[in-house]
Amino acid sequence: MTPGRARIDALACPCGGVVLHPRAACPGCGGRLSPTRIRAAATLVASTVVRVNPTGAPFRLGVAHAAGGASTLCVIEGEVRGHGRDRVRLERRDGRFHAIAARARVSERTPARSATRGASRKG
Ligand SMILES: [Zn+2]
Repeated sequence: MTPGRARIDALACPCGGVVLHPRAACPGCGGRLSPTRIRAAATLVASTVVRVNPTGAPFRLGVAHAAGGASTLCVIEGEVRGHGRDRVRLERRDGRFHAIAARARVSERTPARSATRGASRKG
């Protein structure tokens, strides 16, 4: 999937507000929320390193802003500058959000089909 087209589940209010986590009502106006899908592209506005945690391995935690003013705490994957303007893609996994750095291109999915071309039969 093209990174810029990825979408995630969210809740939207008629006022234009969007939230990423389950809520009874819109935090902005108290309006009724309904399910929607928003672009997974987001901006990482804050980040920190959590060194003391049960896993024993440090990891990066951040706050990302997505479409409609939605924001969430997220585990950061990949290299980010941490200057408040990193472009990330949000993914929901194991009940939490992960922010994948936009620059971290996955190159392991290189198609290997070209080797089978040219095997046409001609009488
Ligand atoms: Zn609202």
